[in-house]
Amino acid sequence: MGPELEAARRRLEARGYRLTRSRRRVFDFIVRRRAFTPAEAVDQLRPGLGRATVFRTLKLFSKLGIIEQVRTVPGRTTYVLCLPEHHHQLVCTGCGRVVEVAGCEISPAVAAQAARAGFLVTDHRLEILGLCTACQPS
Ligand SMILES: [Zn+2]
Ligand SMILES: [Zn+2]
Ligand SMILES: [Zn+2]
Repeated sequence: MGPELEAARRRLEARGYRLTRSRRRVFDFIVRRRAFTPAEAVDQLRPGLGRATVFRTLKLFSKLGIIEQVRTVPGRTTYVLCLPEHHHQLVCTGCGRVVEVAGCEISPAVAAQAARAGFLVTDHRLEILGLCTACQPS
């Protein structure tokens, strides 16, 4: 079992879910593709898994933080495989590519602002929009 599958299994089990055969098939597809649209997942996992099962599984994985939904280019929703640790996303507004980057240096600033507002921070999300190397004007 690869480290990614192992991490996903731990996340499932921590919330009382099992890594069933169909969940494992969906996850194998996700690891191969890293980023994909729901329609691509349904298409690739047919005929073994039905559309309802694929959608239900993606929703569960998303709820558990195994994958994340990112709006990339207008009208397109992409799911990306999440790094197991805290991370942010670089989203290319040209081609819709999403890269996840680990590490974080904004927490102290956010925490200080939140503390001033009397807010207890539990997490944060951050998307950095821009152009990937292939999409930058040369
Ligand atoms: Zn993520
Ligand atoms: Zn791009
Ligand atoms: Zn962060």
